[in-house]
Amino acid sequence: MSDLHTPNSRAYTHNACGNTTVVTDEHFTAICDPFRLVTGTFCVGCESHFPLKDFVWADTGEVIADARERWAREAPPAVRTLNSSLGCWLTLALGAAAGAAVGWFAVAQTGKAAGIGAAVGAVALPIVWLGFVVPAVTKSVYNWDPRHLK
Ligand SMILES: [Zn+2]
Repeated sequence: MSDLHTPNSRAYTHNACGNTTVVTDEHFTAICDPFRLVTGTFCVGCESHFPLKDFVWADTGEVIADARERWAREAPPAVRTLNSSLGCWLTLALGAAAGAAVGWFAVAQTGKAAGIGAAVGAVALPIVWLGFVVPAVTKSVYNWDPRHLK
């Protein structure tokens, strides 16, 4: 599975109208990753968004919502753990603690700065974790790239 053969687009069909839409790049990566929150997608025929259960992959005929549930089930255990809500809560707590510590040391030990630091850390760390660290680790360590899933 080299990057040369990593797909970057896939077509899906909207059941209601029968039109096929090709999803590419960032949207493709998001819709392929069963651990990302994607509730709906776009139909070029209807020029609107609809739930994932209303679409099937054009090449396999599988409902996109069903395919994503299956991909999440079939992912390696370590990948599932990294993407679990526990991991998310942990990074939230760690981010808050780290942010509070930074705020504490950075600005003359006022409670306010620590609170702001905690808030920033609680938001920033999970974003970095889920947006960059987990995808990078699952790809490099477990060779798990959701764009290959079918
Ligand atoms: Zn449509």
